[in-house]
Amino acid sequence: MKHVVVLGAGSGGAMTANILRRKLDRSEATVTVVDKSTDHFYQPSFYLVPFGYLDPDQSRHVDELLKPDVEFVHDAVTGVDPNAQTVSLEAGDDLEYDYLVVATGHRLDPTATPGLLEAWQETDDVYPFYHYEAALEMRDALENFDGGTFLVTQPDTPIKCPGAPLKLTMLAEDYFRRRGIRDDVEVIMTRNAEHHFGVQPYRDKLYEIWNDRDIEFKENFSVAEIDPDANVVRSADGEEIEYDLYAPVTPQFGQKAITEGSPLADDSEDGEYVTIDQHSCQHDEYENVFALGDCENAPHSKTAAAARKQAHVVGKNLTALLRDEPMRAEYDGYAACPLLTKKGKALIAEFDYEGPISAPVESKLNWIMDVNVLPSVYWDAWMRGYDPLP
Ligand SMILES: Cc1cc2nc3c(=O)[nH]c(=O)nc-3n(C[C@H](O)[C@H](O)[C@H](O)COP(=O)(O)OP(=O)(O)OC[C@H]3O[C@@H](n4cnc5c(N)ncnc54)[C@H](O)[C@@H]3O)c2cc1C
Repeated sequence: MKHVVVLGAGSGGAMTANILRRKLDRSEATVTVVDKSTDHFYQPSFYLVPFGYLDPDQSRHVDELLKPDVEFVHDAVTGVDPNAQTVSLEAGDDLEYDYLVVATGHRLDPTATPGLLEAWQETDDVYPFYHYEAALEMRDALENFDGGTFLVTQPDTPIKCPGAPLKLTMLAEDYFRRRGIRDDVEVIMTRNAEHHFGVQPYRDKLYEIWNDRDIEFKENFSVAEIDPDANVVRSADGEEIEYDLYAPVTPQFGQKAITEGSPLADDSEDGEYVTIDQHSCQHDEYENVFALGDCENAPHSKTAAAARKQAHVVGKNLTALLRDEPMRAEYDGYAACPLLTKKGKALIAEFDYEGPISAPVESKLNWIMDVNVLPSVYWDAWMRGYDPLP
């Protein structure tokens, strides 16, 4: 009997564990999932909750998500020894594995930008909405905001859902218009890059929308520090932006249990990501290790949509490997980003390693899909290891 251990019960880990449990016979393998948290959040809600467009109750207990005969260990992983095939835990004994799936996601580090944590905790103007608590608290702040500069910034590190800061910016602009205070608000978003969105033709469509709605994009802005006393963000070049209400995206990294506690990420460019084959999702050195989602170095957009496709590839390839069969499943880099442009309108950016798939069309149907349909598809199909949509 083989033992499959999955690190992380987030989007990638929960889906993969449930897929494996369905594919593998009970006599072939046991499946164990380890997570330091018992709560799984629907993270795409974090840009909807501040405006009241989704109910704040956006989490499920991990036990509710995993199939009954997937074992759940509630503990923090501190390291992996792929030669000994063991996972070390903060509280419990080491776990031995035959096959390992790493899905530990991104680590948000608000201390990586000087002043961010103080500004969030000690003032009423700063809401790093990638944290659920901040997204929730931002609701009141938006309601009470009566004018000034609304600012969204992005860190220099890679971020999950690169479209999320754009969505928050556009939804805020529309929200201020609906509240009748748009003329009193300056809406600004920054990024340390030439453009606000990486993929064409969605980028040009977004520029069109931003120009029409007078949303300012400040390019090549590297956030160096936040001064909560002066309500100012300073860039590495010494440029300053004053804010009245501010939603910074928190800097993001790999999990230390993997980057410092294992050799699984050592060869990646900056040591932050588990190094895998971008198609098979198998580790480039340890053949019994797979990784998916935000924690690995395949050049896809870090989204639950990508993890959803990868989970099926990992499920098939790990099962084949375990049965001594050829691994045939290939991930094609698919990612999707529903870009909510205003209340009731969205365009869906869908692309893979080759380029764009969907047309850059804003529609009400896209909004309905993303806001009214996808949350239940996420909980009731994808997380359970089923994929009813193509
Ligand atoms: C604001 C926001 C908006 C987003 N919008 C979208 C969207 O519209 N569409 C989309 O497709 N995606 C979106 N995403 C991105 C999506 O949520 C992530 O890409 C996805 O969750 C990645 O899945 P994952 O399994 O890699 O990581 P996660 O889902 O983050 O799960 C990682 C898990 O690992 C656990 N873990 C980490 N370290 C340890 C450790 N040392 N020990 C034990 N457990 C550990 C964590 O507790 C967590 O449960 C958004 C994200 C945010 C924050």
